[in-house]
Amino acid sequence: MVKTVIFDWAGTTVDYGCMAPVKGFVDGFASIGYHITDSTARAPMGLAKLDHVRAIAKVLDADISEDNIQSVYRVFESKLMETIEIYCDLNDYVIETMAALRSRGIKIGSTTGYTAPMMKKVLPVAKEKGYSPDFCITPEEAGKGRPYPYMIWRNLMEFGISAPREAVKVGDTAADIAEGKKADCWTVGIIMGSSELGLTRDEVSALSEKELDDNRKRVIKAFYKAGADYIINDLSELLPIIDDIDRKLKQNSEHILLTPGPLSTKYSVKNAMLTDHCTWDDEYKSITKSVLNDITAISANSDYATVLFQGSGSYSVEAMINCLCPVDEKTLFLVNGAYGRRMLTIARNSKKEFGDLTFDDTQPIDVTLLENKLINDDKIKTVVFVHCETTTGVINPLEKIVKVAKKYNKRVLVDTMSSFAAYEIDMPGLDIDAIASSANKCLEGLPGLSFVIAKKKLIEESKDRSLSHSLDLYDQYLGLYKDGGKFRFTSPTNILLALRQAIDEYKKEGGQKARFARYKENHDIIVKGLSLLGFKPIIAAEFQSDIITTFDLGTVDFSRMYAYLKSKGYIIYPGKLTSLPTFRVGNIGNIYPSDMKALTDVIREYLLFFA
Ligand SMILES: *Cc1c(COP(=O)(O)O)cnc(C)c1O
Repeated sequence: MVKTVIFDWAGTTVDYGCMAPVKGFVDGFASIGYHITDSTARAPMGLAKLDHVRAIAKVLDADISEDNIQSVYRVFESKLMETIEIYCDLNDYVIETMAALRSRGIKIGSTTGYTAPMMKKVLPVAKEKGYSPDFCITPEEAGKGRPYPYMIWRNLMEFGISAPREAVKVGDTAADIAEGKKADCWTVGIIMGSSELGLTRDEVSALSEKELDDNRKRVIKAFYKAGADYIINDLSELLPIIDDIDRKLKQNSEHILLTPGPLSTKYSVKNAMLTDHCTWDDEYKSITKSVLNDITAISANSDYATVLFQGSGSYSVEAMINCLCPVDEKTLFLVNGAYGRRMLTIARNSKKEFGDLTFDDTQPIDVTLLENKLINDDKIKTVVFVHCETTTGVINPLEKIVKVAKKYNKRVLVDTMSSFAAYEIDMPGLDIDAIASSANKCLEGLPGLSFVIAKKKLIEESKDRSLSHSLDLYDQYLGLYKDGGKFRFTSPTNILLALRQAIDEYKKEGGQKARFARYKENHDIIVKGLSLLGFKPIIAAEFQSDIITTFDLGTVDFSRMYAYLKSKGYIIYPGKLTSLPTFRVGNIGNIYPSDMKALTDVIREYLLFFA
């Protein structure tokens, strides 16, 4: 939540139009023979005053000597000091706004271009009129003025705030916005009474509606150009902005996701997104190539290629099924959950010849029944199944299934979406033809990219076979491999950079074995903890994966428990079984045994006091 709003002084909270300094600059430069307009005098407004003199001098004549600059400044300073107290009228809505902010516990900070002796005159007058911020600092006290962020940081230190995003800077000049941006806080430009507008109240009243509107547009443009996050007419519009920023901050607060994807991810992974890349640039293409090679190396060798697709996991499952099983060949789907059924829909839509062997959602695929089927139906050329059925958490016997299929010379395609990178999947060793997975499961990347790893030979045979242009595995492969890492269509560049980082994190952790060990520990803790609280897993232990677990909900109300856990920062998952009320807890992602223990404690607390 926003903890402080830091206001500029002249032009923002006092001195409508920021009039006090202008005359001083004009007189100062006149004293060395330069006759400048008010708008020239105003242009660098917001800087520390000596810097302001330098900035004007630079525009007039690069050769003005330091002695002359100092003498202009002395004239300016004595002029300003004479009149500064008359220019302490409060801007509109200052008193109400400060009272409202304080009532929310928000600290009122301030920064300025004035010197400490100048502020010594302003502060008591403003206070008398009803405005007295909690802190005020000047450029020389902070070491440097705007656009440096140090005055803002000194405010944060004073208030004991460590996150600059919990601070909002409000000002009336481009220099104010620059200061706020450099400090990494939110920035708000104010129009009425601003130095950017540069008009007194009387001058504003004399304008026609159209003239005022044109002036306002000019100011908006200047703030926009400076990079302001928000622009307001006057302080009466500030509170809704604080609400909006609060909403954004809340949205950014961490929830631990105990779901099967998207997952909780490392900060470094999300941070990797914060750069813009174009898609055809060689540097970007080489990052893409490195991602392809690293993914292939996790489960395969150079006989295989990884083909990335823009889209969630299902896009790659669809590309794999459509491109690697010819329409005129029969494909057998082994189904024991929602993701298996999704594959049947894909097959149906593509008008393929296919059959299925369907099992109960709580049971693994039965290899004996598969063998019988293959013996009795030699039209079948390809066998397709899901490795870990995320619907329930059942893990199917990959090795046994593949061995039987291979015994009868079938092609084998596997949806290893939620198992890839955690379970060992030896594609060449088992002679698996293709698998599909995505960035946002056990690789702990972000959603938006998925991939097929397939035998290169098989991909090359699939030329011209795809029913879909966007999901054409062969075409996509050509771009990525023959065109040096190029996506055919717009690449989700930020998501790819995040995936690059996620793979680096994966390697740092120790790769597949280390990641599996962490997930297994997570899983063991949650199963043991919840069993003690009376929630039993519904899948028999020997078929239960270490990815996600379905628990019998009993008589507990899911939505109430969900809401309680969410309020404590944990997101669990509803069950998907129609036969009995269940809930699911995923244990993959950037989560650790300590998180699983903490979750168990929160669930115990809920059952004891709130169920
Ligand atoms: C996550 C997942 C998918 C992909 O689903 P999307 O909704 O496309 O992300 C496919 N299969 C399994 C087993 C999964 O866990």
